Amino acid sequence: MLETVAAPEPNGRPDGVWSINTARAESGEVTVAGVPVSLIAAQFGTPTYILDEADMRTRARAWVEAMEKAFTSLAGADVYYAGKAFLSKAVARWMMDEGLNIDAASEGELRTALAGGVPGSRIGLHGNNKSEAEIALAIDSGIAHIVIDSIPEIAKVACIASERGRSAPVYVRLTTGVHAGGHDFIQTAHEDQKFGLSVTSGAAYDAITQIAGTPGLKLMGIHSHIGSQILSTDGFAEAAKVVLDVRAWAAQRGIEIPEVDLGGGYGVRYTSQDAVPPAPEEFAEVLAQAVRAHCDATGLPAPRISIEPGRSIVAPAMMTLYTVGTMKDVATDSGPRRYISVDGGMSDNLRPALYGANYTAAVVGREATGAGCRSRVVGKHCESGDILVKDVSLPPVEIGDLLAVPVTGAYGRSMGSNYNMLPRPGVIAVRDGQCTVLLRRETIEDQLAYDLG
Ligand SMILES: *Cc1c(COP(=O)(O)O)cnc(C)c1O
Repeated sequence: MLETVAAPEPNGRPDGVWSINTARAESGEVTVAGVPVSLIAAQFGTPTYILDEADMRTRARAWVEAMEKAFTSLAGADVYYAGKAFLSKAVARWMMDEGLNIDAASEGELRTALAGGVPGSRIGLHGNNKSEAEIALAIDSGIAHIVIDSIPEIAKVACIASERGRSAPVYVRLTTGVHAGGHDFIQTAHEDQKFGLSVTSGAAYDAITQIAGTPGLKLMGIHSHIGSQILSTDGFAEAAKVVLDVRAWAAQRGIEIPEVDLGGGYGVRYTSQDAVPPAPEEFAEVLAQAVRAHCDATGLPAPRISIEPGRSIVAPAMMTLYTVGTMKDVATDSGPRRYISVDGGMSDNLRPALYGANYTAAVVGREATGAGCRSRVVGKHCESGDILVKDVSLPPVEIGDLLAVPVTGAYGRSMGSNYNMLPRPGVIAVRDGQCTVLLRRETIEDQLAYDLG
């Protein structure tokens, strides 16, 4: 069992749990890019997601710069921001500004990226069960690539492309057998799961041969995504080797594959007890070494590489701001515990309930002094698993205090729900002392509007 600890203080460091422009002012209150959190609460209510725009842009740019540097002597690299982590029109535009492309995994994500002004040629489409409408929209918008995820999908994409008199650029998603990542539900490259085509079973080779012989499809690349919240470089190097071996197999059969996508999954620190993940430069260097070694050994021309970070770009850039509603002290086998109830919960952050993810929390509206108490931050939903922070040391908290949970940018709002008919919180971007509403808070009226009686 982990020791109960308090959240670290904001320190402006990229690995410091809080976004880099989060600070504690002399008054004791926390500010984001110069804006006191109490101002945000007063203006926009709670719960609210606060996104540090400069932090997100900095992390995005770090990936682009790291990949460009590592791959200049090879065939170059592209970074696709995995929009499922958190996407809005503004975020799509920021990512494009910073030199990234966008990965979409549904019509909604694709249309949001397009509405943000990202051209189709800078968007990739994923998904294990894409609809005809999704595939058609992707082709019509001149998508960079559609990632084929099953054998029947080959004919489906070819058919939709030929109906439109176009050819569709495709990747094939491989299951490499490499395991990595935090929790079993977020490990995606082992065999017994729904994603990709197995290299071990031979399905991956069948797909490549079939695509190469299908008019209307252009095989642009092969793809691997080994999991999520990965805190070491080993799995990526190992998966890269498997993917490059498949590429060499295809080359021997006269099938040239110009691009290789090594996926996302780069981990972040959620609490001070998590290890510090390798920096983008380290990951990029490991990937480049794997590609260089393989090309030297096989004599094949280097492929253009892409990666798809989501979490590592947006998770640390965002915090969720809550108001404390009530408290309760309970006795447990391991001693007293204080339950602190806030005005959101599993509808704005499902990750703890879904796979036991750990977070931390701090009192942010004032300087909080006093001895730390073993606390658990819970939501207002009708589930005992509605826990936001399992275990954190918090000073005496009062009703009405503002409490923040950091590192909620990835898979927070995007996995949000309306459970208990709670309106989903808004997302407020802050930059240089200015607040911008990226997503407005939902209202009960929004929900009643689609209830047709
Ligand atoms: C989810 C996903 C990503 C992004 O994963 P992160 O852990 O957010 O970096 C990238 N590629 C694919 C195919 C994914 O499914």
